[in-house]
Amino acid sequence: MNQGEPCALCQQATEIEKNTPSYMREHYIDGAGQLCEHCYEEIAQNKEWHNLL
Ligand SMILES: [Zn+2]
Repeated sequence: MNQGEPCALCQQATEIEKNTPSYMREHYIDGAGQLCEHCYEEIAQNKEWHNLL
């Protein structure tokens, strides 16, 4: 098993490995953490991610 960092919102494992530096990550929000692709797209659309945490 090669589980990645869990999504900060839905806890689903992402493809980002835990030792990946934040500047190399996709779907990463500073102050929030790693998100999965699905959550990131929703947040990128409504810009209200801080209300979800
Ligand atoms: Zn998610």
